[in-house]
Amino acid sequence: MSSTKYIFVTGGVVSSIGKGIAAASLGRLLRSRGYTVAPLKMDPYINVDAGTMNPYQHGEVFVTDDGAETDLDLGHYERFLDVNCTRNSNVTTGRIYKSVIDKERRGDYLGATVQVIPHITDEIKEHIRRVGREQNADIVIVEVGGTVGDIESLPFLEAIRQFRKDAGAENVMYVHVTLIPTVGRWDEIKTKPTQHSVIKLREIGITPDVLICRTRVPLPDDVRAKISLFTDVAQNAVIESLDVETIYEIPLLFEQAGLARLTLRRLGLPDAPPDLAEWERIVQRIKRPSARCRIALVGKYIENRDSYLSIAESFHHAGAAHDAAVEIEWIDSSELEHVDAAERLRHVDGILVAHGFGARGVEGKLNAIRYARENGVPFYGICYGMQMAVIEFARHVAGLEGAHTEEVDHNTPHPVIHLLPEQRGIGDKGGTMRLGAYPCRLQPNSLAARVYGDTVIYERHRHRYEVNNEYRALLERYGMVFSGVSPDNRLVEMVELPEHPFFLAGQFHPEFKSRPNRPHPVFVGLVRAALERRHQHAYTPALVEQG
Ligand code: GLN
Repeated sequence: MSSTKYIFVTGGVVSSIGKGIAAASLGRLLRSRGYTVAPLKMDPYINVDAGTMNPYQHGEVFVTDDGAETDLDLGHYERFLDVNCTRNSNVTTGRIYKSVIDKERRGDYLGATVQVIPHITDEIKEHIRRVGREQNADIVIVEVGGTVGDIESLPFLEAIRQFRKDAGAENVMYVHVTLIPTVGRWDEIKTKPTQHSVIKLREIGITPDVLICRTRVPLPDDVRAKISLFTDVAQNAVIESLDVETIYEIPLLFEQAGLARLTLRRLGLPDAPPDLAEWERIVQRIKRPSARCRIALVGKYIENRDSYLSIAESFHHAGAAHDAAVEIEWIDSSELEHVDAAERLRHVDGILVAHGFGARGVEGKLNAIRYARENGVPFYGICYGMQMAVIEFARHVAGLEGAHTEEVDHNTPHPVIHLLPEQRGIGDKGGTMRLGAYPCRLQPNSLAARVYGDTVIYERHRHRYEVNNEYRALLERYGMVFSGVSPDNRLVEMVELPEHPFFLAGQFHPEFKSRPNRPHPVFVGLVRAALERRHQHAYTPALVEQG
């Protein structure tokens, strides 16, 4: 391929409109035609990365193989495109400015007055090109975070405007994602916000080639004609994006609407029939499952479900693999400190205790784990969830009263979870955890090894604390198996209880590696165990009565 093509995706009217999913869906269609697609998310906030951001506000922090803490949209890109993003797949205003300021301090600008244009915009443009080069991409899809009209996204929009001149108009396409609201009792369709959003974009010098219109109701042709007339976007490029049951359906709808065809024509690339058979099969299974099970997701940030986005998606992937729907029961861990955990959890077929930080809700997580352990309920613990499984076992099985993690209780008599040696003395919070993919060795014949069907795995991490090796022998004597360890045996990576039908936990985040076409083994295993439990219990008269 002679020159890389660039697709820029902006959003208008409201935030959280699904630009990421729209961009990822277009990417899927291009990839299904054999093109190499590299995604890039540009976030206008000043944080250098998403690592220090509160999940309540911003949703999940997605971790890449190379250890970057990024925006959750990268998760959509990895899942839709089936590629691994890198630390360069997400860039923020903070990171761009930091790099420009570092250069200025080094004297790289030779005394020039350093300005937004050209220095910041040049830095942004260079970052865009770098992603294309690094990933050897035919097409780079660049999503600009925020909403057109925001002050803070202006330098990014200016940079992508300039990009067209630099790269040549034939190599650049602009996609604008907007919302078409309906008002009143009869759901009257309103196009004005979209018209205004495009006016705003054109003021900056960007005329979109394609409009993707999010809508609850189908858009009649005359509405699309009107949008086309007011925005100068060809009518066949006004693409309707109807609300759907599952996000994985969106690429299929875009395909029907001809989005990939017109994109390739616009960029002067040859079209070919897409291979979407596998994708269609997955969507069918998600939409029409033949079985179901209910799994509790116990976490601290439940009010913003985006905090657990990759976990929820992983359950959908694993469910589809079993031709089953996984209904997630979202449970705030604090709630389990006040109510009877057994009562609250009695009707679930499996329990997942999620990652987290700090003291709030910790005892609730411990109550959930105790219930799972004592009642043979399939259980998986992620990161903090694994640390809690070790604490629960130490306290209630090994008799280590007051056992805890140093993160919550500095003076615990039994610090079964303590700070990683390399974390001692680190003060900075940003980007300093143990981050990214590390190898882990699994004990042959363990549940972990059976689930993975392998003995060496690579999983992504994001933590400061670890299992205290001084307690390993003792906990083992009571029946806990440390079935996954770092290759040098210094760090515990997975624990399990062989007496239990399915009790497994890991220090890493499996949810970041699950893909619709390659569901993660840990989730596949947990869902299988949950379905089996449900099946068995369906034949227990007492439980049938309880419904
Ligand atoms: N708070 C724990 C730690 O830092 C667990 C982190 C997590 O769950 N991602 O080790």
